[in-house]
Amino acid sequence: MHMHAHRLDRSMHRLMTDLFGPLSLHRFGHSHDEDETTDEDDVLEQFRKQAKAVHEEVVHDHDVSCVEFLGSTGSGKTSLVERLVERAPPEETIGAIVGDVAGDDDARRLEAHGVEVVNVNTGKECHLDGSLVADAVAEFDLASLDRLYVENVGNMVCPADFPLGAQARVLVVSTTEGDDVVRKHPLLFQACDVAVVNKADIADAVGADIDQMRDDVAEIAPEMPVFETNARDGGGIDALAAHLTERQHAHPH
Ligand code: MG
Repeated sequence: MHMHAHRLDRSMHRLMTDLFGPLSLHRFGHSHDEDETTDEDDVLEQFRKQAKAVHEEVVHDHDVSCVEFLGSTGSGKTSLVERLVERAPPEETIGAIVGDVAGDDDARRLEAHGVEVVNVNTGKECHLDGSLVADAVAEFDLASLDRLYVENVGNMVCPADFPLGAQARVLVVSTTEGDDVVRKHPLLFQACDVAVVNKADIADAVGADIDQMRDDVAEIAPEMPVFETNARDGGGIDALAAHLTERQHAHPH
């Protein structure tokens, strides 16, 4: 928990502002005499409650299927979502919540594919959380949506502790990150449901052994399915899409 202290401190400030308004910031920010572990647990718990409420509203109340994509900057999360959107039935209405530290590059890419996008710039935050996603969800007309994709901020550490209410968390790594990327991030693999090894087509060129990556996933998260994709040209996307659909039918809620 200590490694998260700064991040949680910022998250805590924002949460307190949400709950009580800006006046409580000063008081809360100087609470070093109190039990900080309890404060951190409270903040995490609050975010989890918000994520659960998002899940109830989106998945249960409005029957919108909801998948989160996580992974490093440049792993190919946005490209994967683009390829999935291209394969969706034309009558489907698709929304996306796009988390990035800054800018609207990904939001504009998905909008060009006809997706309704809420762009969330997190500034100094390295992950989305239940509060940010709850605010973003409020921007959609959920009754008209069939599917909601949530793209987290590019990061392989921080999102582990912050579920967002999706039915499945898809962790995207790419061969260009090195074939040791899986075992370097065991907690995030354990916090997710599906693994994607993207840029599989250039594994040889970048000296990455995909079998090693698969072995590491099998060791760290034995139940986790692994899909090899090339998000740029669509390779492997059909299998991933079929799995996500199958998952959704097997675990509708
Ligand atoms: Mg992206």
